[in-house]
Amino acid sequence: MKCQHCKKKAIFKSPRLCEDHFVEYFERKIGKFLDKYKIKNKKLLVAISGGKDSVAVSYILSKLKEKFNLKIEYFFIRLGIPVFTEKSEEIALKITQMTNEKLTIYDLEKEEGFTIMDIKYKPCSYCGMIRRYILNKYAFENDFDYVVLGHNLDDEVFFIFNNMFNKNITQLQRTGPLTPTIKEKKLVGRIKPLYFLTEEEILTYTKLKSLPYIGCACPNSLKSTQKKFKTNIEFSRDQKLNIVYSILEMKKFLPEEKIEIKFCEKCGYPTTSNICKFCRTKERIRG
Ligand code: SF4
Ligand code: ZN
Ligand code: ZN
Repeated sequence: MKCQHCKKKAIFKSPRLCEDHFVEYFERKIGKFLDKYKIKNKKLLVAISGGKDSVAVSYILSKLKEKFNLKIEYFFIRLGIPVFTEKSEEIALKITQMTNEKLTIYDLEKEEGFTIMDIKYKPCSYCGMIRRYILNKYAFENDFDYVVLGHNLDDEVFFIFNNMFNKNITQLQRTGPLTPTIKEKKLVGRIKPLYFLTEEEILTYTKLKSLPYIGCACPNSLKSTQKKFKTNIEFSRDQKLNIVYSILEMKKFLPEEKIEIKFCEKCGYPTTSNICKFCRTKERIRG
């Protein structure tokens, strides 16, 4: 099987590309994303988890920062999950060393007095909320334009189906490659530069570039619905892209989420009730 652009051996099937053309294709796609969503002259906080997605996005943004005049800082949250946290932190330090960017390490136990291990019921849904809260707060207090997440096409397809399985139609409004920053609501926008790239493409890029990424999974991920979904349902790359393109089109006709945003009585950050979910969780765990 030959590359569609040259005579070299193709290492990837769809699109059919050799090593060099694959790297070029992958980086061009990220460049197009930054162009399309006007990510120029911005200050970005890149969330690193140690997984291949966050490592790939941290590496590419560092590579493209001059072209797009970006200021970049990496952010790693020590969640306190034995072995997994230590291994992920090693990866965050390695990629920081490779790119020479600034890395901030936020220790959940030291800063907030608890770890993810203290959450016994549905740890993943709390973990997601906790990470979003901390990233938003840090980004807001330090004047970042966007938080960068490593979510890929497969994650988005899961998000779409999971909400449909649960009849959460209004939640579908939340999917998308970019959410805007709303300063008066203390909400920093989020961008997902890997939104139109599959896990397989990201893994291939990470390997071709010899980027470090965590080899072991978080023990909680084995139980997660997302893992089950990904192993049971197979779509081609084009089908996945068509699913997200269709939803992005349909979003225009979906009802807007009508949520009244207040500010938490404890921490002052946005919430829909008097006390935000982060503060309630923290209080409950710490008794
Ligand atoms: Fe957090 Fe769950 Fe991911 Fe583990 S698998 S890091 S608990 S979201
Ligand atoms: Zn080629
Ligand atoms: Zn709060």
